[in-house]
Amino acid sequence: MNDSSPRLSFEFFPTRTAEGKEKLLTVRNQLNAFAPDFFSVTYGAGGSTRENTKGVITSLREAGIAAAPHLSFGGDDEETILQLLREYKDMGVERIVALRGDVPSGIGGTYQLVYANELVAFIRKHFGDDFHLEVAAYPEIHPQAKSYSDDVRYLKGKFDAGANSAITQYFFNPDSYFYFIDQCQKQGITQPIYPGIMPILNYRNLTRFSDTCGAEIPRWLRKALENYGDDEASMRSFGIDLVTELCEVLLENDAPGLHFYTMNQTEPTAQIVTNLGLIPTE
Ligand code: FAD
Repeated sequence: MNDSSPRLSFEFFPTRTAEGKEKLLTVRNQLNAFAPDFFSVTYGAGGSTRENTKGVITSLREAGIAAAPHLSFGGDDEETILQLLREYKDMGVERIVALRGDVPSGIGGTYQLVYANELVAFIRKHFGDDFHLEVAAYPEIHPQAKSYSDDVRYLKGKFDAGANSAITQYFFNPDSYFYFIDQCQKQGITQPIYPGIMPILNYRNLTRFSDTCGAEIPRWLRKALENYGDDEASMRSFGIDLVTELCEVLLENDAPGLHFYTMNQTEPTAQIVTNLGLIPTE
């Protein structure tokens, strides 16, 4: 990739089993061939994956690959989070995806979430500019937001607290991203907002997840995907074309890069990136 190439990043979630870890190494090596700017690794609600997230980050760093752990306070105290950040810094981690996270399922009503802007301010206070801080953004608006303008205002709050850039929740309607960028700019946000891209792997999982995270699958797309029934191969092929076109529209209209929710699979992310011609020149 040269400097003018769009930024490219791939997201993993940490796996628990030895088999899953082994598979993730293969996927990582295959996707690393595209010379991404970094891999990010999610963090379970309430810190439930703390050790596993750290494990994947350690393995990426040992291979000399840029790695960005996701992080939220969850139920942890400041010292626990500071210790984790110190460990990341010692490993050479230069980027953190700072989040509020969600209340873990099965936990009662006293659980206090720490807003992402507070985590950003906390990291800046203790580590200065040691980390590039990414935050989450929602072109179709966070499901708990009181209003569109509130959500944009809170995103601005994350940048004001010291975030450098944002990665969006996935979406299938590029207009939602373009309108959101306009609204963010009107609120004085100048930092880059990278679209999050969800390859289409499994219709049932996609609809279930989209319903909870507030990402819309347009009715026509639901119907088109339903139409494939059990023909997963054809559905995936349709999904690759659809998501490739979405990425093309985004990049042609000045999206600064793409962040892929790989779901720990090489395909279809690798195929989409290949279709886009985002292949290292070396
Ligand atoms: P915040 O920015 O804190 O916002 C949460 C809600 O509160 C919004 O409705 C917002 O409008 C409102 N709000 C924000 N600030 C304030 C404030 N100061 N006062 C009052 N209201 C406020 N989840 C995980 O569990 N693990 C992950 O690794 C993970 N990675 C993610 C990566 C990306 C790129 C994205 C887009 C999401 C990710 N999530 C992850 C999901 C995320 O944790 C949830 O969407 C969560 O509900 C909100 O997190 P946030 O950081 O956006 O929260």
